Amino acid sequence: MIECIDVSKRFGDTAVLAGVTARIEAGEIFAVIGPSGAGKSTLLRLIDLLDAPTGGAIRVNGTDIHREPKRGLLIRRMMGMVFQKPAVFNTTVYENIAVGLRFRGVGEAAIQKKVEDVLGMVGLAGYGERRARTLSGGEMQRVALARAMVIDPDVLLMDEPTANLDPVSVALIEDLVLRINRDLGTTIVFSTHDMYQGQRLAHRIGVLMKGVFAQVGTPREVFTLPASRDVARFVGVENIIEGVVVAGENGASVVDAGGIPVRARSPFEVGEAVSLCIRSEDIRIAPADGGAAAPGRNTLSGTVAAVVPRGPFSRVTVDCGFMLSSVLSWKAADSLGIGEGSRVVVSFAPESVHVVRQG
Ligand code: ADP
Repeated sequence: MIECIDVSKRFGDTAVLAGVTARIEAGEIFAVIGPSGAGKSTLLRLIDLLDAPTGGAIRVNGTDIHREPKRGLLIRRMMGMVFQKPAVFNTTVYENIAVGLRFRGVGEAAIQKKVEDVLGMVGLAGYGERRARTLSGGEMQRVALARAMVIDPDVLLMDEPTANLDPVSVALIEDLVLRINRDLGTTIVFSTHDMYQGQRLAHRIGVLMKGVFAQVGTPREVFTLPASRDVARFVGVENIIEGVVVAGENGASVVDAGGIPVRARSPFEVGEAVSLCIRSEDIRIAPADGGAAAPGRNTLSGTVAAVVPRGPFSRVTVDCGFMLSSVLSWKAADSLGIGEGSRVVVSFAPESVHVVRQG
């Protein structure tokens, strides 16, 4: 439905987008995630015709929206946009929402019915006569969402829609996004710097980094099989270790990580420089005298370098020649009786090691 083909955008000397290519299917929720300044807003603004690309093309239902202005504008009218800062006009909630329909010449009775419907949908029934500027941030964002939805858009674009909201308002908006997509079939493209929001809402995620999609895939693919070291770091893989493949056949490899052999599943050839990505949840810690190691697992002895509280967990970092971090519940950390300097055994399965090419 929306195709970005080698889209680039420069502001003066700065190339913000440098060849973005992706295909967003009708009816899907697609998240554009990436660090601040990666160009997420810029990409959404290009899709929304608020700005023009420097190179490449954006096709919506086959129309090159920037090169076919007349048809592009028609397509623009099927799209609703919600911005990070809810831009409400200083008038009633009703007038704020009605504006898109007035613009399209819809009659007052039909407007009234439609505005009531969308107010109900966003959980603000009865708010029509309130002054929009007196609402809370979360309510204002739901008014902005109602304004985008009142025209029954085929595509809903949302730029960091929950960035400035409290957790309860975030949950309300997220629930609405899922319901709108499920009940109305609206294609939704949203940007977020919050990878977990991407995971909660999206069917597919595009990770925007250094001006291109470093990876496009399902949340599961992006989180468990990041395409590069940078993506791995962004999606919260805490352990990324450099090494060189020293042996391997049938996808089972041994990687030399600074003199320590690590067994991993990897398609790479002997001699290739790789990064090992290991999620801290997949690393087990046992006391040094904890008996025989489970067969098949990578098992390394080490010394606890730090124990740091993290929410309801403890993050335990162990020096095994390289640093490895694991997360344990407080109870588990307490029952191990470990602290800085304790000797421990760290283990993880070869299947838990995701290997990417270095660079
Ligand atoms: P994100 O949404 O991922 O945080 P943005 O798309 O807002 O990123 O911005 C990407 C980069 O482009 C930033 O460095 C920003 O300063 C720059 N930028 C965005 N819009 C403009 C503009 N109109 N003029 C100049 N630079 C801009």
